Amino acid sequence: MILYNAKMNIKVKKATKLEIEAIKSLFLEHYPDGVTELDYTNIYELLISVMLSAQCTDKRVNIITPALFCIYPTSFELANANVDDIKLLINSCSFFNVKAENLIKMARSLVENFGGEVPLNQKDLMSLAGVGQKTANVVLSEYLGANCIAVDTHVFRVAHRLGLSDAATALKTEDELTKKFKTQLHLLHQAMVIFGRYHCKAINPQCGGCFLAHLCKSNGRFKV
Ligand code: SF4
Repeated sequence: MILYNAKMNIKVKKATKLEIEAIKSLFLEHYPDGVTELDYTNIYELLISVMLSAQCTDKRVNIITPALFCIYPTSFELANANVDDIKLLINSCSFFNVKAENLIKMARSLVENFGGEVPLNQKDLMSLAGVGQKTANVVLSEYLGANCIAVDTHVFRVAHRLGLSDAATALKTEDELTKKFKTQLHLLHQAMVIFGRYHCKAINPQCGGCFLAHLCKSNGRFKV
């Protein structure tokens, strides 16, 4: 079946059920215990790191967070922070103005509604300022090993190149991947992030020797 991928402006073949199973097996074989590259020691730090990582590299976030966590070790300190002080600490991060405001609002909500603790379910997480479905899923997947997948730019690109999705949005892609992979989504999420970040890159993907080359639908055409 040929699908038209509007975002990539190219026609791609849809992966068959057998191919989906093969892709899943190969990802799990090559990335059996994937974990985030964000540095954190507890769920409060993980949540903040994931919030900061939107449109920003994990490497940059890991440079920013040690000072932030040192000065604001819990939601109680962060809830009382001055927004300009937070902006100063995170100003090398993209969208730092909005992120600084959201971090404080998020912390205030934790204090007011959750006793200062980060809730461990998607609905409550998504009630926090600056936390959407993707952020909530990354946190739950990483911290609890929850069976959910989050679609960032890497997962989106890899899913489309492999014919796993032709959806135009991240949320629809997440829905398709969830239905197709069904289980072990937390491992598959990390596998696709790492694979996309270091191998199936947006520009000049490392197609030579790629363990998924025989299943790839791009034929090297997705050099965007
Ligand atoms: S063959 Fe190239 S484009 Fe296809 S999955 Fe591998 S690295 Fe990505």
